[in-house]
Amino acid sequence: MSRSVLVIGGNRGIGHATVRAFLQRGDTVAFTYRTGGPAPDLVLDGAMAVECDITDPEQVELAFKEVEADQGPVEVLVANAGITRDRLLLRMSEEDFSTVVETNLTASYRLAKRATRSMLKAKRGGRIILVSSAVALKGEAGQTNYAASKAGLIGFGRSLARELGSRQITVNIVTPGLTDTDMAAALSEERVQEILRDVPLGRIGNPNEIAATISFLASEEAAYITGAVVPVDGGISMGH
Ligand code: NDP
Repeated sequence: MSRSVLVIGGNRGIGHATVRAFLQRGDTVAFTYRTGGPAPDLVLDGAMAVECDITDPEQVELAFKEVEADQGPVEVLVANAGITRDRLLLRMSEEDFSTVVETNLTASYRLAKRATRSMLKAKRGGRIILVSSAVALKGEAGQTNYAASKAGLIGFGRSLARELGSRQITVNIVTPGLTDTDMAAALSEERVQEILRDVPLGRIGNPNEIAATISFLASEEAAYITGAVVPVDGGISMGH
């Protein structure tokens, strides 16, 4: 059965791979982009592209309206957009901290709230998948802002799972490890090798591997999974 899917931050990286995974399942898929324009290959394959900066509540409302006018109420939301502003705490400005929390955590609250409204009204259950990070579980020097925002998503998602369970809306949190995207490309080769020494599988993740898990959590087969924190990280966070 084809569902109405919205992937936030789908123009590149993990979001791009996720849009592709849903298209392959035969779903009706929309994705947001902010800078750089929509990914033309996804549009060519039938996905709808909507411009949206998720830190702006008005843009979020407009994006949902546009998507829902085209493909009906969102049944699957993937809150994937995220940013880093890595610095050691003593060099981290108030703005470095608040911008990361605003984008990674507060905007996810905003997106989940808007999606929930439609899901409850449609009375057909739903799926919310929040993209967190292995760093939320294990911590990382230089990423106090990022880790706080991503750990916040875990508490947020688990609480929301309890609120929405009786309506058959599941809320799950995926925690990727280092994955081969622009975000990882910003790290020095030395830093990448340092991280990989801690990864039992000894390699960087592929965006398709994260997308496969997201797509599974949105599937009918995963109907009894909610409030779960699912690591896709080569084992780096095990025990946390
Ligand atoms: P990328 O940097 O490749 O892509 C980030 C996406 O988020 C882009 O689509 C970007 O849009 C979007 N985005 C950022 N800020 C906003 C905003 N204010 N409004 C709307 N969209 C925004 O990252 P990844 O694909 O690597 O990361 C995807 C998710 O996975 C993130 O939440 C990240 O934290 C998480 N993650 C990534 C890991 C990795 O190693 N890559 C590891 C663990 C977690 P635009 O193109 O306009 O900038």
